[in-house]
Amino acid sequence: MGKSVRELKGVGEKTEKLLNKIGIVDTEDLLRNYPRAYDTFEEPTRICSVKEGTLVSVRVNVVSRVYTGQAGRRALTSVTVADETGRLPVTWYNASYLRGTLKKGSAFVLRGKVSRKKGNLMMEHPDLYTPQAYQELLHSLQPVYALTAGLSNTTMMKLVRQVLGEAEMKTEFLPEDVRARFHLCDFNYALETIHFPKNMTELLTARKRLVFDEFLLFILAVRSLKTQTEAAQNCFPMRPVWTTETVIENLPYTLTSAQRNVWNEIERDLTGHRLMSRLVQGDVGSGKTILAFLAMILTAENGYQAALMVPTEVLAAQHFQALTRLLEDQSLSFCHPVLLTGSCTAREKREIRGTISSGEANLILGTHALIQEKVEYRNLGLVITDEQHRFGVRQREALTTRGNPPHVLVMSATPIPRTLAIILYGDLDISVIDQLPATRLPVKNCVVGTSYRPKAWEFLERQIREGHQAYVICPMVEESEVMEAENVQDYTEKIRESMPPDIVTASLHGKMKAGEKNYIMEEFAAGRIQLLVSTTVVEVGVNVPNATVMMVENSERFGLAQLHQLRGRVGRGEWQSYCIFMYAGEDEETKKRLEILNRSNDGFYIAGEDLKLRGPGDFFGIRQSGDMRFRLADIYNDAEVLKTAGRAAGEILALDQDLSLPQHQILRQQLASYMREDLENNSCNSGTKVVV
Ligand code: ADP
Ligand code: MG
Repeated sequence: MGKSVRELKGVGEKTEKLLNKIGIVDTEDLLRNYPRAYDTFEEPTRICSVKEGTLVSVRVNVVSRVYTGQAGRRALTSVTVADETGRLPVTWYNASYLRGTLKKGSAFVLRGKVSRKKGNLMMEHPDLYTPQAYQELLHSLQPVYALTAGLSNTTMMKLVRQVLGEAEMKTEFLPEDVRARFHLCDFNYALETIHFPKNMTELLTARKRLVFDEFLLFILAVRSLKTQTEAAQNCFPMRPVWTTETVIENLPYTLTSAQRNVWNEIERDLTGHRLMSRLVQGDVGSGKTILAFLAMILTAENGYQAALMVPTEVLAAQHFQALTRLLEDQSLSFCHPVLLTGSCTAREKREIRGTISSGEANLILGTHALIQEKVEYRNLGLVITDEQHRFGVRQREALTTRGNPPHVLVMSATPIPRTLAIILYGDLDISVIDQLPATRLPVKNCVVGTSYRPKAWEFLERQIREGHQAYVICPMVEESEVMEAENVQDYTEKIRESMPPDIVTASLHGKMKAGEKNYIMEEFAAGRIQLLVSTTVVEVGVNVPNATVMMVENSERFGLAQLHQLRGRVGRGEWQSYCIFMYAGEDEETKKRLEILNRSNDGFYIAGEDLKLRGPGDFFGIRQSGDMRFRLADIYNDAEVLKTAGRAAGEILALDQDLSLPQHQILRQQLASYMREDLENNSCNSGTKVVV
């Protein structure tokens, strides 16, 4: 446990609030808030070779006097600079203090973005260095942290330095021989270097160690739970029932044979002698939800409670509606579902908790509230987690009834190749739904630049006129100074004005209150909202089959896996659906990356191609998203380290099953705190703290 950030020099109430906002409460959080990228300082370029739209450094002399002016509310400070190959005008905003510095003839290195104004290249608001100062930075890597408005990168750097400087260093928790055998650097060195690497080699060394740790702890945690499960008695024996067959029979569709097979596996597990612990993998839209419902119904009919936990309130509410409808359609009167989420009022929570502890409620859906709200279950026989397996595997401990662990089912859309899944979940049983319903038409895709936007909007309008609905995804909630990208608030205004007034447009994002979000999502699901402008909060699991268009703005800012998830929000009904990936800028690499989505609708293929394109070691690429989130590690990119960690875990446990040997004491403590923390922290369900 670190100490509170408030105790650091330079942190007052205001900064503390800002840090808390991005999930940093104590000094340990601060150290583990790894940079999301690194700024590199390259050799300066010559003016004759600078290109529009790029970030460059130039070594120059000031060759004009300083001009000052006004543009709107901004004060302008401009000079012309030159090297032996050309001249370049430069402008700063609200920086009149530079006037004294920019003496004619003086030498600087300027680092900034080159743009074109009235036909000429110019540099806008560059950073200014003396040649000596730049020389010192040259080839260094400066950390870039995820920030929030009001908190600067420099502040973050200073705070991290302060903590690194004064912290009593942590004790190394890996046994010496493991480190030696797997070529891993010291833990404290890694922690310091991930923030302030001197060069790329150092960075890679540090990163490898931290990635190894993440995998190792994860694997050890999964295995230790597995050991407990195996030892645990099955207190929830079940018999097969007819009801599930009837439900399947009466569905408005036929289960695919893949769904059928996986259902058989689940049913066999639940009615077997041992406790179930199974992972079900299936691409978006493969129809995992119905299998969860069937398992819950089976459990309820056997007289036990079943809980389904999901990462967002929107998804919880949606599952609740779908389940309620299913139960009504099929008149299953022995089933009593309840929905428990953070946005229930205190009174509602009390009531729901009451029905759960009395056993009156037997199908329990919700978010983390299911753990956090101190719910007492009467006889919880089955726990299912949807779209979030990091936490899924660990919930048993929190969700046992009087010490009796339940059956566990984990559902995931992350396409982990089987070889890697076996290492990560070594001892979980794995089922794969490798087939989409046959009635589905594959989604049609296009990858286009922003000039296509008016056409895209017309297309949206036509689809809406035909009775369908559409999503537009923007990367940000509101306008920001640090990032140039579309934001939900302004975009909603713009598109609303451009659409005919009878088209109902709404926005959805993470800063809205949970109740508000649910309301918007319900209205959208009911078809009363036709056009939904949203951040990626709709990414996981949302199911509105009537929506046929997904348009993603600034798709260059998202990982392919995440874009694939977003695309999975359409093409869920019987109608032809479309996905428009719009990207800003001219970058060829970006286009090539996005074209992968154009070629395929298969999550496995996309993950593989993405990896090929980025190449191993390229971790500045946009992170994989989905429900398999680590702070640093990326299961695809770091597959080799994952394999190593798998071997190491195997060796450690073979030698010392319960980590009781003296050389494993610190590792054992580390593991205990990792498992505890994973339970506590998962409400933000994300390792990377990117504020959108
Ligand atoms: P996911 O696997 O992404 O969670 P869902 O369970 O949300 O997918 O299912 C997506 C949609 O497909 C839902 O509307 C569901 O009713 C429907 N669906 C599920 N199974 C089938 C099937 N075998 N045939 C047709 N539609 C199906
Ligand atoms: Mg789902």
